[in-house]
Amino acid sequence: MEEKIKLDIVTPYGSVLSEEVDEVVAGGSEGEFGVLPGHVPFITTLKIGMLDYKKDGRTFHVFVNSGYAEVSDNNVMVLADSAERSEDIDVERAREAMQRAEERMKKEDDLDFVRAETALERAIIRIQVSEKARSI
Ligand code: ATP
Repeated sequence: MEEKIKLDIVTPYGSVLSEEVDEVVAGGSEGEFGVLPGHVPFITTLKIGMLDYKKDGRTFHVFVNSGYAEVSDNNVMVLADSAERSEDIDVERAREAMQRAEERMKKEDDLDFVRAETALERAIIRIQVSEKARSI
């Protein structure tokens, strides 16, 4: 049988995904990385970004909010602050979060600016992940 990778994505809100997949591509803090069966073990922190995985010839997209990924023995374990599969992203909610963040960035002090900037990044990437899934 063809070798697979067990991909788990877990957040404090619960398990987002637990599947046997063929390939995983994600954005590490040091750059994008891809994992195929038999990959050497490693651990990396993750940026706010998109994780892609391939299964049975199809590509799926997941929004991942920071955290880290551990690769070992054909397992990819992602622990993230939050994460959603593309089809679970509420685009309207992300648009509202984007607007709130933009408003805060216009008026508040430096500390809140950074928080708003991160919230803005989450919202923008959620919208991108959702749009990418719909464009296929
Ligand atoms: P918001 O301001 O809309 O809550 P946020 O970026 O602050 O957005 P997070 O702290 O990343 O939200 O996530 C909190 C919870 O809400 C998590 O369970 C996350 O999966 C979920 N969540 C946040 N935004 C969305 C969205 N646009 N669609 C679906 N689930 C979302």
